[in-house]
Amino acid sequence: MVEFCPKCGNVLVPIKRKEKIWLYCKHCNKYYKPKKAVKFSEKINSKKKEVVVMGKEEALKELPITKITCPKCGNDKAYWWMQQTRGADEPPTIFYKCTKCGYTWRSYS
Ligand SMILES: [Zn+2]
Ligand SMILES: [Zn+2]
Repeated sequence: MVEFCPKCGNVLVPIKRKEKIWLYCKHCNKYYKPKKAVKFSEKINSKKKEVVVMGKEEALKELPITKITCPKCGNDKAYWWMQQTRGADEPPTIFYKCTKCGYTWRSYS
């Protein structure tokens, strides 16, 4: 696929720059975003969305279950996971999610 400079009509040369392919016009010394790359990034975005949706459904199944009493319904089993909530130097917070009522709470150690 050959693209032409919209200003002078010269053939644009593909050049790799900052991990992206750009189209370069020698005559105008200008870089242009290729149309192909834009389409390509759109594809990546839609794929990412799918992964996030799938991840939400799958994530709960893969969480480990521990024996802990739910403060809301009294159920004795809950999923648990760790999450970095504040700075990287802070210890991660442990979250629990009741297997019965879905109530989520955090543990302060
Ligand atoms: Zn040009
Ligand atoms: Zn519960």
